[in-house]
This record gives sequence, structure tokens and C-alpha cells, in this order.
Amino acid sequence: MKKIRLFTPGPCQTPEEALIEMARPFEHHRTDWFKDLLKDCTKKLQKVIKTDNDVLIITGSGTAAAEGAIVGCCPPGSKLLTIEGGKFGQRWGEIAQQFGIEVTRHAVPWGTAIQPQEVKALLDADPAITAVMVVHSETSTATACDLEGIGKVTGDAGKLLLVDGITSAGALPLYPDKWNVDVVITGSQKALMLPPGLGFVSVSDRAWKVIEGNAKQSTYYLNLAKARKAATKYDTPYTPAHLLVRGLNITLDLLLDEGIENVWKRVATMAAMTRAAGEAVGMKVFSKHPSDSVTAFEAPNGIDVGEISKFLKKRYGIHTAGGQDELKGRIIRFSHMGWLDELDMLVAIGGIEQALYALGHKFDIGAGVRAAQAVLAERSAK
Ligand SMILES: *Cc1c(COP(=O)(O)O)cnc(C)c1O
Repeated sequence: MKKIRLFTPGPCQTPEEALIEMARPFEHHRTDWFKDLLKDCTKKLQKVIKTDNDVLIITGSGTAAAEGAIVGCCPPGSKLLTIEGGKFGQRWGEIAQQFGIEVTRHAVPWGTAIQPQEVKALLDADPAITAVMVVHSETSTATACDLEGIGKVTGDAGKLLLVDGITSAGALPLYPDKWNVDVVITGSQKALMLPPGLGFVSVSDRAWKVIEGNAKQSTYYLNLAKARKAATKYDTPYTPAHLLVRGLNITLDLLLDEGIENVWKRVATMAAMTRAAGEAVGMKVFSKHPSDSVTAFEAPNGIDVGEISKFLKKRYGIHTAGGQDELKGRIIRFSHMGWLDELDMLVAIGGIEQALYALGHKFDIGAGVRAAQAVLAERSAK
């Protein structure tokens, strides 16, 4: 017997109710049935993302939504500043370059977060910048930035703020409208607990002015102005992945029934349990500014992190993610998103301990689970 236990930071575990819903017989997408579904989901997404702005549902992964937003928000004569502290930050700079958008690509050491005053200095130094793109939770390094602080800086400077919220929306505290965030991008397969295939993008009035004025943008499928036109009639320009939207209706209900602030709290508790447990058994938290939606660990000296992930997968069906590029072979990552709760983290932590023990690491077996239990008990008592 072997269970599939997805602790990868995307795709994340999907609840059974959503899987069953997506397996049921379905209608055509140009029907009232689907329009009602799209309408419900759009309203619920606004609640989950905590925005009154339009939210578009795009067929394609999170990168598709991001590409549409970047190209739309950067017409000729504009200039984008991308903050790049990992794989995903780099991707947004690459997209801008590929489309011939004028872009300043600002690198940040992996595992650290840019400070708002640094963003301010970059904007002060180059008044030509019209928009800034940051990753709220950089999944590749498990690092979160001070988005509220950055939004204050970009808001004061009158710049558009585009946010990759792919592992923050539905996992970390996020108030786009209060924080001057113009565009929030997310995807289906992370905190929204669905299989991959949908991207979501919220757009402020300020950003719409730019996108709708950007008449010659070199997109066809990912033209957000076109998507908005269809969305006002609860329709989509092209065939949507309508079964995923059906599943979405279920997972959004689960999040909203729990209460989005309670979801944030649960995710934070899961992260705190995991960090405490890892440190109790000799693992090291990689990030200097850890995100609560995903934890990255370095292994104790002498232990190969790849062997830990191999053991977890082979013995217990626990799927984790490794590092990419400069972090390849250096870290192991565990999601706190998806259809997982605090007790599921005890399973992962138990697995880490068994892996370390099997690999010959000397430590007090059970210390990790104990540390995690103490964190959970303390936080539950509050
Ligand atoms: C997963 C992820 C992406 C990429 O999204 P896709 O859905 O794979 O296109 C981008 N940014 C972050 C922060 C992510 O975690």
C-alpha cells in the first residue's frame, strides 16, 4: 500500500469533493449553467483574494495570467522594474524581454527579500519606470517579501504594482486594495487546491486604463482587454477549462467556509510547526525571510538532501520539491498549501525523521514531532 501525499508547492493536494465534482457529466460551456458557475466563482475569487477589482479566469497556468498582465500593463513608452530573487522573479523579467518591453531586471540574493526602501531607491533613481513587478512569495526560495511596505512605496510614487501572488493568494495575508496592488496573479494548483490549468488575475481601474489603452499589444490568446469584455457577460473569449472551474467552485467554498483569515492562520501554524521541527532535528531553514506557504530546508552536514526526498517518496509516497538552478541539490521544499492541515504536517515531519534516521543522521528521534506538537498546542490555545 502506498498513499500519494503531495507536499510539493504546486501542484498541491486537491480535496476529494472537488475531484468528484469534476468527474461528473457536464454541459457545453456556452450555457446558463456555465455562466452561473463563472459568476459564482468570480465573486468567490474576489473574496478569497480580498479585492473589489475585476478578477479574470484564464485557461492556462499562472504563467499565462502573468504574461497577459505584463504585456497588457506595459505599452510602448512604459518601463517595467522586475524584482528577481528566484526562478519566478526571473521568469517575469524574461517575459518582458521576450516581448521587447523596456525592463530593468533587479536581482536580489536568493533566500532574501527586497526591502521597501530599496524599491524606493530604484524608483527615485529612474523616473522612467512606470510599473513594478514583485513576487510576494518566491516559491523557488521559500521567501516572502513585505508587500504592504512595497505597495506603500509604489503607491506614493504613482507606479503600477503587479504582484505574483501565485503562492500567496489564499495562503498569506493579502489586502491588494488597501496595499495599492493593481494586479494580483495566481493559479489553480497552489493554495486554491485544484489541479493545474487555470490562471487568475485581478486588475485595478488604474491598470485597466493602461491595458485598454494598449491597443497594439502583441498578444492574442492572452489579451486581458478581450477577456474582460467577455467576462462582463460571464463568458470567456475561447473555450475555458470548464471542469476546472467546476472544481474551483468547490475549493473556493471550502476556503470561504473556513474563513480566509483562518486559512492564513492555519497556513502560518503549519509553517511554524515545520520550521520548529526541522530545526529540532538538525535541518536548517534556508530563507532569511521565510514564506509561510512553503518551507525550504537544507540538510544536516553529511546528509544528501536528494536522499531525503527519495526516501520520503519511495517509502511513504510523500512528494516534495528540490531546488532549482543554484539551489539544485541544496534544498528540499514542503508545501503548506493545498488540502493539508496541521496534522498532515506531523506526517511529513515524521517522514523527515524516519529519512534522517535511515540515512544515519544522529539525533533524538521524535524531537521534530515533539517540537511541532508544542507549536500547534501553543497556537491552538490562543
Ligand atoms: C508555481 C509558480 C509560478 C508558475 O506558475 P505556473 O502555474 O506553473 O505557470 C509562478 N510564480 C510562483 C511564485 C509560483 O509558485
